[in-house]
Amino acid sequence: MDGSAARSAEGMHYRQTFLAFRQLLSRIRDVMAGAGDPETRLGRIVGIIAENMGAEVCSIYLRRAGEVLELFATRGLRQSAVHYTRLRIGEGLIGEIAATGRPLALAEAQHHPSFVFRPETGEEIYQSLMGVPIIGRGRVLGVLAVQNQDRRQYSDDEIEVLQTVAMVLAELVASGELVSRAELAPTEGIAVTPLRLEGVSLNAGLAIGTAVQHRPHITIRRIVADDSRIEHERLGKAVTDMHGSLDGILSHTEPARGHEYRDVLETYRMIAADVGWLRRIGDAIDSGLTAEAAVQKVANEIRARFHQVSDPVLRERVHDFEDLSNRLLQHLLGSLAENHELPEGVDAILIARNMGPAELLDYQPGRLKGLILEEGSFTAHVAIVARALDLPVLGQVRRALSRIETGDAVILDSQHAQAFVRPSDHIRQAFVANLELRNRQQAAYVAERDKPAVTRDGVRVQLNINAGLLVDLPHMAEFGADGVGLYRTEVPFMARTDLPDVESQRLLYARVLEYAAGKPVVFRTLDIGGDKVLQHWEHVVEENPAMGWRAIRVGLDRPALLRQQLRAMIRAAAGMDLRVMFPMVTDVAEFRFARRLFDQEIHRESRLGGPLPRTARVGAMLEVPALVLQLDALLAEADFISVGTNDLAQFLFASDRGSARTADRYDCLSPVFLDLLTDILRRCRRAGVSVSLCGEMAGRPVDAMALIGLGFRDLSLPPFAVGPVRTMVRSLTLGQLEAFMHDVHATRSSSVRGKLVAFARDHAITI
Ligand code: PEP
Ligand code: MG
Repeated sequence: MDGSAARSAEGMHYRQTFLAFRQLLSRIRDVMAGAGDPETRLGRIVGIIAENMGAEVCSIYLRRAGEVLELFATRGLRQSAVHYTRLRIGEGLIGEIAATGRPLALAEAQHHPSFVFRPETGEEIYQSLMGVPIIGRGRVLGVLAVQNQDRRQYSDDEIEVLQTVAMVLAELVASGELVSRAELAPTEGIAVTPLRLEGVSLNAGLAIGTAVQHRPHITIRRIVADDSRIEHERLGKAVTDMHGSLDGILSHTEPARGHEYRDVLETYRMIAADVGWLRRIGDAIDSGLTAEAAVQKVANEIRARFHQVSDPVLRERVHDFEDLSNRLLQHLLGSLAENHELPEGVDAILIARNMGPAELLDYQPGRLKGLILEEGSFTAHVAIVARALDLPVLGQVRRALSRIETGDAVILDSQHAQAFVRPSDHIRQAFVANLELRNRQQAAYVAERDKPAVTRDGVRVQLNINAGLLVDLPHMAEFGADGVGLYRTEVPFMARTDLPDVESQRLLYARVLEYAAGKPVVFRTLDIGGDKVLQHWEHVVEENPAMGWRAIRVGLDRPALLRQQLRAMIRAAAGMDLRVMFPMVTDVAEFRFARRLFDQEIHRESRLGGPLPRTARVGAMLEVPALVLQLDALLAEADFISVGTNDLAQFLFASDRGSARTADRYDCLSPVFLDLLTDILRRCRRAGVSVSLCGEMAGRPVDAMALIGLGFRDLSLPPFAVGPVRTMVRSLTLGQLEAFMHDVHATRSSSVRGKLVAFARDHAITI
């Protein structure tokens, strides 16, 4: 057969499949619209599917309370098994399809490791099986399966047809038209017992309120189209409307919320114009579906295909598509509200599987107090937007939607990665008191922002902030910080889908300097790699990413990237003081090389006649033990040093900083670590090189007290820690502490935290 003959045969087959498929859908529609009780109609539907697909068996299992799947209707298996055969989720092939949310097509089903035989069904004579999940509203509602006696190899087209039919059924099941909704699995946690749920803090904070489940409730009643042309027109109009409303959100974006926030929404709008996505919806309309059914079908396919993908960036893309599918459906069905309604007078805590940034913005901002997600990651767009809105977010909370009902009282303590659902009065009162205290304390810290961080005996300590988003910067003035001791440039990079060019970076850094209004800012070059994944960057999978191709290592291997960043910083700081430092330096030669790149960029700019910074200082982060051992050599070449205790402690103790299990095992306030810091301080002083410390420990008042006692005078900490640390400094008499720290070194225990807390208590130091 030549190429064109093959194509025309293919075309013929395609048309035949199409016709059969359209016929199947319209027959199902007739049954749905016809007479008869729900069970009888379900029985007819399985008959139609079996006939149309040339299968001897077609069965529908629906999910019931207690995590079981019950046989609800069958053609081909024994009728006595209906409502009798039950499988646990995960049990047998049907249970596996429900558990994974993915289709299975097996020519020899008995050979599959999950196969279990249920004699009451009489299914022993059927060799092959194809099953797909019935997915509705983001959950598996049941399983639709066909079986054949012969060894049959089901094609991808057949799987797709069965998935579309399952989608039609899903709408029926979820809407309660065929089977009363009360008969289906109710959500877990109906019991009113209090629960404590754990997750991952995506934005630390505390909120007390009432749960509101976020679920786009869209019921699609018309599945099969009368006229595909009209459906294409409807889709076209809905897409235009959706773009219009996204533009509306963008144009109302407050500039104060920063570039990253805007970038996220821009990216989102780009996805909305994705040609591949819209083409697939168009193809589904061509196959005979209405526009809304086509949107739903493509959304289901994307969800099923990426169900088990663990790559966080890819998962976020899937959520963006889901969010957009919902928006498109709302436009198609004309049910788009200006804002999602939140109950009046209620402090709402949203509970969602995941959501897109635009969906979050649909809620009235004033009534929304927090967010709990079943999924979500730190770099998720929704988390970035929530941070800009100052909403506490707890992510990765297992089965949150089935354990928290709308109306439940919730305490969201994302600072400690936990939430309390239906808390006892006792717990509630403790948190209400805590929240009031926090609010009062925060107000007091703001009121004290003009008081310098000076000890009782007159020693001034510099308190700078660690920042990464523009929204962090106003806190510098709010809490009266002395500057930005660490600006993590990778954070704004993480929020974007493309690599920003020199000019967009220049604009960003210029805004940081503008916010700082003359106060010093230390820009750290990109610390990507490890857990900090960029969407647009080659994603290297490594077994130990924290010790892998990360930070300056990437910059040295990709000098163009580093040079562009340095160029942008140099231009942004024209006429001002520029401070740049490199992360994860391990060898002095690495610093030397990076510094040379910086010098080259300065020369390049001066050759081009561009205005240069008034002064330029280049430093290194000290966070790898090998560099500590070369410190004297480094000090001969670096203008300043910043000790990154987060990484330094992780590498010194060989203890992953992200591991919850080892988090409390080794303490930065151990004589070993304090000795190391003392040695660093001594060497820096001897060389006359300034040293600061920017790890998280600087933000804990007791730790900060110890650091000051050792001799540190320059700390950089998270913005909300500035107030408590300043209060500690102002209540401290340094002379007494220095003598105490001297003795502490002699202690050979794994931590001196207890001793330091006792010292603070005995000397009325506020920690
Ligand atoms: C550190 O390692 O201490 C540090 C401040 O850098 P980061 O937390 O960004 O790795
Ligand atoms: Mg670090």
